Amino acid sequence: MQSSLIGKVQKAKQYAQEPERVRFTQFSISFSGENGDHNVGFHDGAWQCTCHFFAGWKICCHTMAVEKLLHVMVPVKQTYPESLSHAEAAVAAGA
Ligand SMILES: [Zn+2]
Repeated sequence: MQSSLIGKVQKAKQYAQEPERVRFTQFSISFSGENGDHNVGFHDGAWQCTCHFFAGWKICCHTMAVEKLLHVMVPVKQTYPESLSHAEAAVAAGA
């Protein structure tokens, strides 16, 4: 009994180092932005956010931040505007 529980703890420790095993299918969170709280959601491979910017762009700093936090665990299906890759390149270049 004790040894089987130890085995589970060891496997959990191994799994916790392998985030690619985890795929969120949906979630809803509260994000504390600089100008207030926003509800960020992920459903069927697409993001949602209650902030004003998201309404026009279908992407925002909140969804991008959560996507970076969760890395491979969020299988995003939606396509982003081409201007986003230009913006990310500008940030990477120190703009
Ligand atoms: Zn937002």
